[in-house]
Amino acid sequence: MIPLPTGAVLTNTRFLDIETGEWRSADLEIRDGRFAKIAAAGSLADADDAIDLAGKHVLPGLIDCHVHVYAMTANLSELETTAPSYATMHAARLMGDMLDRGFTTVRDTGGADHGLAAAQTEGLLRGPRLFFGGKSLTQTGGHGDTRRPGQQISHSSSCCAGLGVIADGPDAVRRAAREQLRTGAHHLKIMAGGGVASPTDRVDSIQYSFAEMRAAVEEAQDANRYVAAHAYTPGAIQRALDAGVRSIEHANLLDEKSADAIAEAGAFVTMNLVTYWALDTFGAEMGLPPVSQAKVADVLSAGEQALALAHQKGLNLCFGSDLLGGMQVHQSKEFEIRARHQEPLDVIRSATTTAARLLERVGELGVIREGAFADLVVLEADPLQDITVLSAPDPALVIQGGEIVRARPTH
Ligand code: ZN
Ligand code: ZN
Repeated sequence: MIPLPTGAVLTNTRFLDIETGEWRSADLEIRDGRFAKIAAAGSLADADDAIDLAGKHVLPGLIDCHVHVYAMTANLSELETTAPSYATMHAARLMGDMLDRGFTTVRDTGGADHGLAAAQTEGLLRGPRLFFGGKSLTQTGGHGDTRRPGQQISHSSSCCAGLGVIADGPDAVRRAAREQLRTGAHHLKIMAGGGVASPTDRVDSIQYSFAEMRAAVEEAQDANRYVAAHAYTPGAIQRALDAGVRSIEHANLLDEKSADAIAEAGAFVTMNLVTYWALDTFGAEMGLPPVSQAKVADVLSAGEQALALAHQKGLNLCFGSDLLGGMQVHQSKEFEIRARHQEPLDVIRSATTTAARLLERVGELGVIREGAFADLVVLEADPLQDITVLSAPDPALVIQGGEIVRARPTH
């Protein structure tokens, strides 16, 4: 990392005002990791160590709201017999790769923990700022239970590199929720319905009783945190909303009624269509068991229709990727998939301003303004005209907290 000295200035910066959708030209002064001053273009050009960004297009640092940085393989049960130290080295490399694509902040929705977040904050590893939820909470036989049907041994992932922990009954859910919150979790993640990567549940199952969901929501709210729920179907979405869940993950089988319910609750939806494309294309070779491959089709085509519906209903849509194992290299392809159904500006909002609202960091993340973290992606082309500059990223510069964390190698 190349620290920018105090008082560094980026001159002639053409940056996107995400709220208005207008490009603005300005000089940006960075101090102590934040934007200290936004001044007229060229007015600070005489500053020492000024970096001239004329001709570039600059966005706030991007935010991916659904990642699993410990998911080094698509075979999640393998993680439970993987040494945490080994999984951590994979996570570190993966986080560095995300940063290189322009993601300066990510929300991990199952697995990431206090240690990784602290290591990132202290500069021990290159990576996005990490909003973690600890282990996902799942019922026995739920989306976070990675045991195969013939496997009788008790689940042990609470100790290891696995992404989830099994908790049945409101008391056990409460205890597991408190355990994640004790470690500084920014949110809690619960499995409210079936999923693809889990070996024994059906995608259309609802998981966790209302009382169990309420227990998680009460614990989160008492700690001034919120609950994110994995939910594909209207039934799972509705029960989660009724229990007070604020963040719906996936929502591939969203219908009109559940979309209206999300709008009414003011909840957020984080979709991640790229992962179904990737599982369909590469899942088998990346370790996805056959039983899971068969479920991909159920949610792949429905996902794009759900995106179109969510956009049409004006839901708070956040950018997510949810890729597992070696498929994580396709993280940015999500921009291209979304741009089939949304204007590029709306897609960019999902990865900046709307994401910042979900993370409760409005004015600090996903925006270029005085006082915000100095997180920037410097692009060679206008992403409003050409989304591939984001979906196949090779940013000239990525700046995070006022430090150049990626400078494109000159060829
Ligand atoms: Zn999920
Ligand atoms: Zn996920």
